[in-house]
Formats: sequence, structure tokens, C-alpha cells
Amino acid sequence: MRQSSFFTKTLKTISSEEQSKNAQLLLRGGFIYKNSAGVYSYLPLGWRVIQNISQIIREEMNAIGGIEMLMPALVEKRYLDITQRSAVDIGFSVAGHDSGRAPYILGWTHEEVITEIATRYIQSWRDLPVAAYQIQTKFRNEPRAKNGLLRGREFIMKDLYSFHQSKEDLLVYYETVRRAYEAVFARVGLKAYYTVATGGDFTMSTTNEFQVLADAGEDTIYYKEGSSIAFNQEVVEESGEYDVSDFQKGSAIEVGNIFPLGTKYSDAFDLRWQDENGKKQKVYMGSYGIGVSRVMAALVEVSSDERGIIWNPAVAPFLVHIIPISDDSAVIREAEKVYEALKGEGYAVLLDDRNARPGEKFADSDLIGIPFRITVSQKTMEQNGYGLKLRDKDEEQIYSLPDLKQHIALQR
Ligand code: ATP
Ligand code: MG
Repeated sequence: MRQSSFFTKTLKTISSEEQSKNAQLLLRGGFIYKNSAGVYSYLPLGWRVIQNISQIIREEMNAIGGIEMLMPALVEKRYLDITQRSAVDIGFSVAGHDSGRAPYILGWTHEEVITEIATRYIQSWRDLPVAAYQIQTKFRNEPRAKNGLLRGREFIMKDLYSFHQSKEDLLVYYETVRRAYEAVFARVGLKAYYTVATGGDFTMSTTNEFQVLADAGEDTIYYKEGSSIAFNQEVVEESGEYDVSDFQKGSAIEVGNIFPLGTKYSDAFDLRWQDENGKKQKVYMGSYGIGVSRVMAALVEVSSDERGIIWNPAVAPFLVHIIPISDDSAVIREAEKVYEALKGEGYAVLLDDRNARPGEKFADSDLIGIPFRITVSQKTMEQNGYGLKLRDKDEEQIYSLPDLKQHIALQR
């Protein structure tokens, strides 16, 4: 893609009310636009990152038998009345035209909606297990929406729901989801601790969170290098069951949360399955969330320097950034040549075809954080090559086109 086709620009400074690193860098880089507190637009660059993260999640959910669907964001209040969750003040209410009442809530979670749908299709032992997910905008009336994309009032979530014949089957699948989540966070480039947490609104038992250490995190966890499990401070204090004396304590961002729901929702909706003897049995459910937009924010919180964002190649808006550092027509032609060649390899390539000073192009390139930067100049052409620099390294080296291709293929 050509940079001149973006309608956005990088910004030198932004309003001082945005203090978090992710908001600062994503706003300055032209990834997002703040419409109101906790409400953001994803601009072309930011939307590419969201789509890359979503695609990784999608692949891992499909690999464990999850099937993608999409439920409404406009959820009739009656759904949450059934489980007494309509009064939870995190929900935004929407008044309908026909009555003065507020018959809708903007969906902040979808256990009730999926469970009602399941009552139509799950009848016998033949119909289980089921695992379905969606990637959707959620709405929560968060009192303190202050950390950029970490806590939005409107944000993107992946939510998976599973239905099982037995508690045992649910617990086996729960472990499968845990591994899929570990794969997701490893692939996007986050070190996430599997954390024991309290039940929250959803269930009485403990749940599990995936927590990324970061100063901006709103949670506190006890973790230990080499331990496969960490503990949320809340569960340690509330239960008194865990000895964390040799653990370290740190702030962390909750990027995912998995819940063994049991039969709370299936009971409320009278969802049952009939066994081989015609006897009605309980359905066991799990629910599993990942904050897609929060993952984007967490990546920025943990990977940047004084010049800007440093994206992991797996989620970067583009893999390669080509910068002609002169407006000489031979240089432009050469830049076009390498642009076409790398696009031909299937890479996402951004060409800085703007009429701007080299210093400005380099500063913007560092700010938006694309992993591979290629410069084309008189000097590189004299050496029959292109300058290649990785975003997280300082030195630039000259490579011929075949070497350049090989280098990118090896390091992406
Ligand atoms: P938190 O404890 O941070 O308020 P939660 O436990 O209420 O979140 P869940 O209902 O489990 O969140 O939602 C699943 C995931 O969605 C969370 O793990 C988090 O990554 C993300 N998420 C939740 N609330 C927000 C929000 N306001 N903005 C962005 N992402 C969010
Ligand atoms: Mg939580």
C-alpha cells in the first residue's frame, strides 16, 4: 500500500489527558482516533493490527473445534432478566421507540443469548459437545475509561462458549482452551501468565486469567519465573488458600479470562440433553474471552522505545516499510521495483511515496513501528542493493534483492 493513500497522518503531540503509553503512541501514530472517553475509531493502520490479531485468534479457535458466528449487539433486556443480570450497572440501556421503557441493553457479554439459541439445537447426546465463538464489539459503562484501549466503553472481544454432557468433558475442554490461549498469546508476541482468579460475576468457583506484566496493568499478580501458574492478588487475599511467599508481585494486564460456568446459564434457560434412555440431563458450559483491542494496547505497553512502537511481525500493520530517501526519479523507480518484488512474495508492504524530508519519513517509520525498514537511495543503488534495518536494531546493512528476500523470510 502507498502511504499517500492514507488519509491519516502522524501527530507530533496529542492532548495531555491521554497518559497511557498505548493511547499516546496509537493516537500519535494514526492507529486510532478518540471519539469520546473510552470510545475509539480504528483508523486504517490500527484496523490492520486488529485484523491480524483477530485472524490469529480465529485460527486457534478453529483448531480446537470452535465455530465462528455473530450474535446481536442489541440484546433485549429479557435475556438478562432471566439470570438477574439486567441490573448490572456495567450495561448501557437503550430505550425503544414504541415504549417509554428501556427494552434493550447493549451487549456486554453473551452467555444468555447463546444459551437461548442452544436450546433450539441441543436436544440429545448426539448434539454435544458444541463450541461457538464470535469476534464482536462489546459495550460496558466502565466508570474509569482512562487507559486508552486497555479499558474501553466500546471494545472488541472474542467470546467462545462451550456446551458439554458432563463436568468432566467441560474440564477437559477447558484445558484445551487454555492451551489454545497460550498459543494465541505466544503468536501475537505476549508473555501471558496463566493466573488463578476469583469467580467475578459469572460463577462461584475460581476462574483463570491470562495476565501480561506491565506497569499500566490494573491487576496485581503473584508470579514466578518457571512456574506455570500465577495468582491474582484478589484470590490470594479472599481465599487465603495460596502460599505465595516465594512469588514476585507485579502489575499486570488481563488479556483473557476463562470461566467454567457449570450449569448456571443452562439451568436458567432450561437447556437439557436427553441421554440414550430418554432421561433429561444437565448441560455444562464454559465461557472464554479475549480482549482483542486490549491485546493491541498490551502489545504497545510492553514493546516500544522513545521513538515509537515496536510491533511483532505477526501483528504489525505491515511487515516491510520502504522509504525512498530522495525524490530523484531513478530512486523512485528503484523503490517501486523492490515494492512490487516484495508484494509479489506475499508480504504486506508499505511504500512511503510522500513528498517529505528523509528525517520526517524515518521518524514516522519509527513511530508506527513496522518491523523491516528498507531504504533506497543513490548510495544503496551504487552498491547494487537496498538498506535493511530492523525496527528494534540500530545498524542498517546493504543487501541485494535475493539476499533481502531471504533475510526477511528468515526473520519474520
Ligand atoms: P476486567 O477485569 O478487566 O474488567 P472482565 O474480567 O470484566 O475484565 P471479561 O468479561 O472476562 O472481562 O471479558 C473478557 C476479556 O475482555 C477480558 O479478559 C479483557 O481482556 C477484555 N475486556 C474486558 N473489559 C474490557 C474493556 N472495558 N476494554 C477492553 N477490553 C476489555
Ligand atoms: Mg476479569
